[in-house]
Amino acid sequence: MAKIHNTMDNPIYPYPTSITENERSKIKGHKAAVLWFTGLSGSGKSTLANRVEQILCLEFNSHTYLLDGDIIREGLNRDLGFSEKDRTENIRRVGEVCRLFTDAGLIILTAFISPFREDRDRVRNVLPEEKFFEIYVDCPLSVCEQRDPKGLYKRIRNGQIVEFTGITSPYEEPLNPELILKTAVVDLETCARRIVDMLLNSRIISTL
Ligand code: ADP
Repeated sequence: MAKIHNTMDNPIYPYPTSITENERSKIKGHKAAVLWFTGLSGSGKSTLANRVEQILCLEFNSHTYLLDGDIIREGLNRDLGFSEKDRTENIRRVGEVCRLFTDAGLIILTAFISPFREDRDRVRNVLPEEKFFEIYVDCPLSVCEQRDPKGLYKRIRNGQIVEFTGITSPYEEPLNPELILKTAVVDLETCARRIVDMLLNSRIISTL
């Protein structure tokens, strides 16, 4: 069994399982992938991820899982806050969850602001190249603030929140995303169908 070291310099021996991702995917009838939605709070990540998951499950019989920021922060990452260091660790852990879930053969949809380019690129780099789709949910701050689906912008303007992406904390736009969706001018259904088309063109899914 191959010996490797983790970052704490402990020797570890990953077991070479007989069943591979390919076999798991074949049973499911589609390939594994990560749809990584990134953008400001209120840009439409959760809404889009939810609609795309619906289409994939109900129209394409796909095996999916949606990882949403708040749910992960409620459980797996409940020990993390919103400092730069914690945001980076938040995304690193989500990237590792994505690595496991793609190995399981699933299509993962993630809805995290993930404001730092380096953090998103790190996730890209732990996954097989053809499996990572960075989707930039591009929406002006003024529109996000007007939508304010969780009332967070109101709270920051009232001084109840200190660290907030786009206002007191930076958002680094993707330089080379697989897809850009301008949700202030393109409606939800059109955006969702563009993602599904991308998956069809990349042969992650196929028409039944
Ligand atoms: P985020 O997950 O990015 O914080 P949400 O999905 O929670 O954002 O909220 C986005 C809001 O914008 C929702 O109220 C949604 O109905 C609205 N919206 C308007 N147009 C679009 C669109 N084209 N795509 C996604 N959401 C949209």
